[in-house]
Amino acid sequence: MNLADIQAAAGLRTPIRHQLFIGGRFVDAADGQTLATLNPHDNSTIAEVAMAGREDVDRAVAAAEAALPAWSRMAAADRGRILLRLADLIEANGGDLARLESLDTGHPLRDTRTLDVPRTAECFRYFGGMADKVLGDVVPVEAGFLNYLLREPVGIVGQVVPWNFPLMFTSWKMAPALAAGNCIVLKPAEITPLTTLKIAELMREAGLPDGVVNIVPGLGNVAGQYIAEHPRIAKIAFTGSTATGRRIVQASAGNLKKVQLELGGKGPNIVFDDANLAAAVNGSAFAIFHNQGQACIAGSRLMLHERIADEFLERFAALAKSIRLGNPLDERTEMGPLTSAQHRDRVLSYVEVAKEQGGAVVAGGKAPADPALAAGCYVEPTIVKARDYKDRVAQEEVFGPFVTALTFKTDDEALAIANGTDYGLGSGLWTCNIQRAHRFARDLHAGMVWINTYKRVNPGSPFGGVGLSGYGREMGFEVMREYTQVKSVWVNIDAQVAPWYAR
Ligand code: NAD
Repeated sequence: MNLADIQAAAGLRTPIRHQLFIGGRFVDAADGQTLATLNPHDNSTIAEVAMAGREDVDRAVAAAEAALPAWSRMAAADRGRILLRLADLIEANGGDLARLESLDTGHPLRDTRTLDVPRTAECFRYFGGMADKVLGDVVPVEAGFLNYLLREPVGIVGQVVPWNFPLMFTSWKMAPALAAGNCIVLKPAEITPLTTLKIAELMREAGLPDGVVNIVPGLGNVAGQYIAEHPRIAKIAFTGSTATGRRIVQASAGNLKKVQLELGGKGPNIVFDDANLAAAVNGSAFAIFHNQGQACIAGSRLMLHERIADEFLERFAALAKSIRLGNPLDERTEMGPLTSAQHRDRVLSYVEVAKEQGGAVVAGGKAPADPALAAGCYVEPTIVKARDYKDRVAQEEVFGPFVTALTFKTDDEALAIANGTDYGLGSGLWTCNIQRAHRFARDLHAGMVWINTYKRVNPGSPFGGVGLSGYGREMGFEVMREYTQVKSVWVNIDAQVAPWYAR
């Protein structure tokens, strides 16, 4: 099928963008290279997308540099107004954005329509409102002097994002950086560039000046690596795996970039014996199976008090087995394919890892039998019981619809297991005991704790991790510190300073 037919078949009203976005224009890569982006439902090619090389990253940096003086000095409220207009345009184009995201990533349409698109608009709107609320400070210093602090943009920011929530991450990464007055060179993941390019088109329509945002789809070890190394990029904000995070830190050392890292996780989801089991079963299924488990904050370690473990697992497995797998563009689908065949194979390999270490498969553990899904990257919702919390399936991030169940006897044991990995991103607990709830909130080694819920996010609430899950925070007022730097200004108003070199 040609691109127009693919658009029509997916129900898209507007054209699919497949070129780099540099200096406000859609352009081919300098060397003409492209990379196919696939539909994970059947592994057919959606589009050949221009693939940025080093020369293209240089062009993007030059465009950002040209745009920076005017953008950073524009009245903050005017920058905000552009982001607010963009939020409106995202809502007006919500149907196409949701379909395009489902087509490129495999997220079911019911998720992209009700979560990804509204959250993307909400985030741009939140930071549109934030733009003119980032205040400086006045420091009470010695008499006769005024000392004030200016919060200035960092300059050119490089942003590298993964493939699991490409649309939403355009807003998490770009909205605060733009509100603060930075210019951007962003690289989407090579396998899911389409909605990011669509957002670029909407940014142009919203009146964003040329060069303020530049999008360079391309390979991680080429375009991504060069962004991390680039001597004229002042900061890099990265979301992705811990292994790549380490490479980014090393590459950034050349010009001592400011670095912000949102990395992997192995979220403990603890169910106590006093929990509301119906709510915990449903919430725990959302925690791991939403987006096929491809979430850094997934509740991938299901920790059950031994008194309720059997009953919980029975109800949880029944729910998992009832989840409707199917084409993401079908409104009734509750779980789509994983985003790539390579990733599906990696996820399924963990079933063998579990078995080798004495684990038992409670549900799933294989591709679905439905012939209609045979060409796609599907994996059944999978539950395994591990023997020990040190087993690989209880320690390593699988990043799929794959949850590892563990049991515990006491609160102390639960805490030791929960904190017994090198990650520290999302975490959650289900209990009706208020003291226990807050004690765990205090003691969990994590950037986020959810009590009697899981995986809640909001643009006002800081998001990020500790340990191997990274450093820095997205969202809220917190992220504005990440995208600004402080300048201290001293003024002698009427200070009587004795001359140091009295003559
Ligand atoms: P990945 O690290 O392989 O890739 C992420 C991005 O980095 C991609 O755009 C890729 O092209 C790029 N990249 C790869 N090598 C690079 C290099 N040498 N230099 C610069 N860029 C490079 O991760 P992935 O498999 O795409 O994504 C899944 C991972 O992302 C999981 O570990 C998940 O937990 C993590 N993640 C974290 C968060 C968070 O907020 N903490 C959110 C979502 C996903």
